Amino acid sequence: MIKTDFLVIGSGIAGLSYALKVAQHHPDKKVLVITKTRVDETNTKYAQGGIAGVTDLETDSYESHIQDTLIAGDGLCNPHTVEIVVKEGPERIQDIIDWGTQFDKDSEGDFKKGKEGGHSAFRILHHKDVTGKEIERALLETVGKQKNIEIAKHWFVIDLITQHHLGYLVTKSTPDIECYGVYVLDQHSNKIEKILSRITLLATGGNGQAYRTTTNPKIATGDGVAMVYRAKGRIENMEFIQFHPTALFEAGVSPSFLITEAVRGDGGILRNKAGDAFMVKYDGARKDLAPRDIVARAIDSEMKKAGTEHVYLDCRHMDKDKFIEHFPNIYEKCRSIGIDIAEHLIPVAPAAHYSCGGIKTDEWGRTSIKNLYACGECASTGLHGANRLASNSLLEALVFSHRCYLDSVQRPEGIAFQESIPDWNPGGTTEPKEMILITQSLKELQLLMSDYVGIVRTNVRLQRAMKRLDLLHEEIEALYEATAVSPQLCEVRNLITVGYLIVKEAQFRKESRGLHFNTDYPEKSSLVQNIIL
Ligand SMILES: Cc1cc2nc3c(=O)[nH]c(=O)nc-3n(C[C@H](O)[C@H](O)[C@H](O)COP(=O)(O)OP(=O)(O)OC[C@H]3O[C@@H](n4cnc5c(N)ncnc54)[C@H](O)[C@@H]3O)c2cc1C
Repeated sequence: MIKTDFLVIGSGIAGLSYALKVAQHHPDKKVLVITKTRVDETNTKYAQGGIAGVTDLETDSYESHIQDTLIAGDGLCNPHTVEIVVKEGPERIQDIIDWGTQFDKDSEGDFKKGKEGGHSAFRILHHKDVTGKEIERALLETVGKQKNIEIAKHWFVIDLITQHHLGYLVTKSTPDIECYGVYVLDQHSNKIEKILSRITLLATGGNGQAYRTTTNPKIATGDGVAMVYRAKGRIENMEFIQFHPTALFEAGVSPSFLITEAVRGDGGILRNKAGDAFMVKYDGARKDLAPRDIVARAIDSEMKKAGTEHVYLDCRHMDKDKFIEHFPNIYEKCRSIGIDIAEHLIPVAPAAHYSCGGIKTDEWGRTSIKNLYACGECASTGLHGANRLASNSLLEALVFSHRCYLDSVQRPEGIAFQESIPDWNPGGTTEPKEMILITQSLKELQLLMSDYVGIVRTNVRLQRAMKRLDLLHEEIEALYEATAVSPQLCEVRNLITVGYLIVKEAQFRKESRGLHFNTDYPEKSSLVQNIIL
């Protein structure tokens, strides 16, 4: 058994920035960070475009960033949360600069600011086209110097521990469900440990792996959301999955390489098979820089009309040297597959990219379960509403990890460890005999989510998806009961839960709003509501 005052699950921007603040505040207390694979293998590392923030009040304003976020969110943002994130954001960006993050600057020493879809000002700080990698580097270097932070790599958190593990019946209506820690699979020893914690933070990231085509790395399997749902906590707005309009199309390659929106911000133009710049038909004013949902649906429609698997991004007219300077990673990736951006069109298609909903939290990152906080992509704070504004997610992770820190930092004194938690009971399970049962379930799930619960939905497709999910759920639960747990088994189980939550909440939403587009209800309803399960 392990005991820790602060337990952090996740080593991306949300988990590491929280861990640093708590550890610096309490140099005498241990902070344990758990990560299921390598420490830097996170969605954070892959962020390209940058982080949005009002850092120059002469050329930009809080009001403008607030309005852009509210417009993208299509009526479902919590305006109070939006104001918090926009106004506290610049200070939090300063935190990561103080920890060593280098954002690109011009010859005068001012930040070079980019613009992405839905933003009405240049306000995106970036480090070339590898912003997330730079932030993760700086965070890990700073964490490395903080003696009271311990990072446990290749540890897979299986479940949250609550009163359920003390033998009580816990349901959605149980008041005061409490989190006492987690059960975790140490992949070095293959043993399941019990970790007792006074405060637990979930920073487990996204769930793009529920779809066949995604920009998210393999770790993005919605574990935190699924764990909270199993523990009877509240989950909201899962139907709002953002598809990035422009992932590089390479048949059979997963995850898909992202071509950041900033390329369109710098002048890249989308063209269909016939070579037409089609965005003008869908959003005459904003064209290629319309919000992502509009661009993704436009591409989906052009692909369906032409019967192609992709459209094209045209950068041939752009200054090649500037392109290489701003997007060296994209340039190299294209070159590596024989595409010279100055001469060739880049084939692109939409890919599952970001989960706007997740574990419901309040303005301090508290979940519906006591002593359990959540921030980053796994959380639903009210910022994104029905659609995330580009580059607002890294910002949200920083603002809310800080708020979780402020709210939780003094609390451990008053929280006792729950000593009577039993050890993990493996029951009569045996080693899995056939991996194919797990890998096939994953493939089936990804296919059905992409085919029936993608950019455009219908009632019939959602019904079909739910029927197949029921079967997959039944099969995976049987496997889970009978075999020893493995990360692969747990991930598929979690993804099936995530799929169920996306479909269920999509079925409840009898309208089209933001990222959720159902042809049976093409209009927006006058009833403005978040759907919570
Ligand atoms: C290709 C790409 C480009 C993007 N570009 C941008 C951008 O330009 N701007 C922007 O604002 N956002 C961008 N995003 C989104 C942004 O990167 C993410 O939303 C953000 O980094 C999420 O950070 P996080 O800390 O919440 O989670 P992550 O960084 O994903 O970290 C999750 C952590 O949780 C751990 N974990 C998960 N489950 C378990 C478990 N069961 N047990 C133990 N550990 C677990 C993982 O190991 C990992 O350490 C992009 C995302 C992608 C994929």
